Amino acid sequence: VSDSEFDIIQRWFARDQEHRDGLLLGVGDDAAVLECRGRIAVCVDTLVADVHFPASAPADAIGHRALAVNLSDIAAMAARPRWCTLTLTMPQADEGWLDSFTEAFFALAREHGTRLVGGDLSRGPLSVTVQVIGEVGENWLRRSGARPGDDIYITGTPGDSAAGLAVMRDGTADKSAAHAALVARFLRPVPRVQEGLALAGLASSAIDVSDGLLADLGHICNASGCAAVVDVEQLPLSESLLSVCGTDAARQHALAGGDDYELCFTASPERAAEIEQALAALSTPVQRIGEIQSGSGVVATLAGKAFEPPIRGYTHF
Ligand code: ADP
Ligand code: MG
Repeated sequence: VSDSEFDIIQRWFARDQEHRDGLLLGVGDDAAVLECRGRIAVCVDTLVADVHFPASAPADAIGHRALAVNLSDIAAMAARPRWCTLTLTMPQADEGWLDSFTEAFFALAREHGTRLVGGDLSRGPLSVTVQVIGEVGENWLRRSGARPGDDIYITGTPGDSAAGLAVMRDGTADKSAAHAALVARFLRPVPRVQEGLALAGLASSAIDVSDGLLADLGHICNASGCAAVVDVEQLPLSESLLSVCGTDAARQHALAGGDDYELCFTASPERAAEIEQALAALSTPVQRIGEIQSGSGVVATLAGKAFEPPIRGYTHF
């Protein structure tokens, strides 16, 4: 962003650079140097204004979200996030915007013990790319590994975020607690990092739900070479979602709405008690919603009959 690029980096991004916890060299040199002992998990995601979030979204929500969606990917691998990089393209350097963006970004980074170690800055249409580097132990998770007979679980309450986006977009968001809760779920998704770590060695497969529960469960099925049956009546629907949308739309959002950033995972029924315990210890709701079967594809059933939501998965608008 012009000659002041270095000043911008110093003022807003060169924070938490103490040389500890494996950070040997961070922001300010040609590359960061990190020290780690074992395997690392790496992921990266780009958020483009008006594709992945409304350009008018609050800067703090964008800063939070850019890191949160990557921490969610890291969580689905049962990895511990350690470091991240940030590439920011923006039309101009607006001080207020940068204050809010970085405040939210660094708050979430600190919460998860993740240090910003480098990045890039450029003028252009608003776009944010974050890369997270995490460490994995022996029992890291992947999408393949589900087996017929495994239970299917979801953390939290899927559908809230999609409903929050819907009321934001159609302008019907009001000041009620229910609307505020749904909009907050969209603007500030909570990555299930601790939950992912707790599931290492317990889950047989995992994915974070970004494109919709059925669509993402489909990725587990494809990777694992099996089928999934989801019982619509078991879907954990939040009070806010039900009161704002009613049962039918709530189910639609929960099955096909995107941006939940909950973990969908599978596990052998023998692990049920341990899974319940591990997530109860984190005060995280978890619900069994179906079963892995042999075959291929994902079906939802309601009272024994196939239930097809009008739309299967939202693509990012
Ligand atoms: P170079 O021209 O060598 O690529 P840059 O001017 O792009 O260097 O970056 C200088 C330093 O600032 C590098 O260490 C880089 O990692 C860091 N940096 C640049 N942009 C950001 C950012 N948005 N957040 C954090 N660090 C950044
Ligand atoms: Mg550079």
